[in-house]
Amino acid sequence: MAKRDYYEVLGVDRGASQDEIKKAYRKLARQYHPDANPNDPSAEAKFKEINEAYEVLGDPDKRARYDQFGHAGAEGGFGGFGQGDFGGFGGFEPFGNIFDMFFGGDFAGARAQRRGPERGADLRYDLEITLEDAAFGLEREIQITRMDTCKECNGTGAAPGTHPVTCPVCNGRGQVGETRTTPFGRFTSLHTCQRCGGEGKVIEKPCPACNGKGRVRGRHTIAVKIPPGVDTGTRLRVAGEGDGGLRGGAPGDLYVYITVLPHDIFERTGNDILCEIPVEFWQAALGDEIDVPTLDGKAKLKIPEGTQTGTVFRLKNKGIPSIRGFGRGDQHVRVKVMTPTRLSEKEKELLRQFAKLHGKSAPEEGKGFFKKMRDAWERHA
Ligand SMILES: [Zn+2]
Ligand SMILES: [Zn+2]
Repeated sequence: MAKRDYYEVLGVDRGASQDEIKKAYRKLARQYHPDANPNDPSAEAKFKEINEAYEVLGDPDKRARYDQFGHAGAEGGFGGFGQGDFGGFGGFEPFGNIFDMFFGGDFAGARAQRRGPERGADLRYDLEITLEDAAFGLEREIQITRMDTCKECNGTGAAPGTHPVTCPVCNGRGQVGETRTTPFGRFTSLHTCQRCGGEGKVIEKPCPACNGKGRVRGRHTIAVKIPPGVDTGTRLRVAGEGDGGLRGGAPGDLYVYITVLPHDIFERTGNDILCEIPVEFWQAALGDEIDVPTLDGKAKLKIPEGTQTGTVFRLKNKGIPSIRGFGRGDQHVRVKVMTPTRLSEKEKELLRQFAKLHGKSAPEEGKGFFKKMRDAWERHA
């Protein structure tokens, strides 16, 4: 499922201020609200998309993360953006939050009853490497920004020596029911408890190190080992280097997505590589030994006498090593015979002598073709 860019969804550019994002969101949310578009599933889908985009771009932290990592998140088992993400869109629950937004309430996460340990989100890092590095592997240091579990409170958010207590407003349920009148009609909705933000627990004395959030932003340098044989689309998992967990939860993983840059000389197909080598027409005619570039440096290639343009030679085991650790692809060398240009008068004279010597007769390999051509003319005569 291809996700649209969140900025595109909200129709703002990447440099938009938080205020502009909020304005754009409100305008679109009003326009596509299901109550304003009854029986229109496309409006409802649009509405969900708008909310999902705003859930990220409306929060400077999540927005920064989105700018860095893109939304690998929701797809492919990624943990998304961690804390406070918008829960599913079932029934009225999330709409309650939208109204909170419009009418001055608190736009807290909709998911309730999240009190247990929570695993940290997985992170994505996109890495571009050269074909040579893809072939032979390398170790690369990358810089990432992530949310680390706060060491002072172990991710509970409560000051050392204290513990979160059950929320007195919702009795730990994380939600409260409320009926309200809005310009769209009268709604009874379950909505997120304002006191605990849906957590069901409140912290009486927040941890000073993380301001009660349980996590702190940190920048890290991580050494990533890239094995020989990777290709564009290869995903390397670095266990435990994603966001830190909360309340004793395990950290997420870091996924490094490889893109192999195009090469000036080599074209890759699987583990084989192909290159095209220009040769002079006399080399092709008389045969020669030529230098060919390979991933391991220069190699010699014998061109037999009478080589035609387009002939492909194979250099065994000069391709990309298999990522499985054994075997290696081949290198294919396609010969391109060059017709000489800018000949000197002396060279032209020699070629005229050659032509006379060789006679006007067609080349051996071409005889069949010229015969067919003559036959075709005769049929039309
Ligand atoms: Zn803390
Ligand atoms: Zn509560």
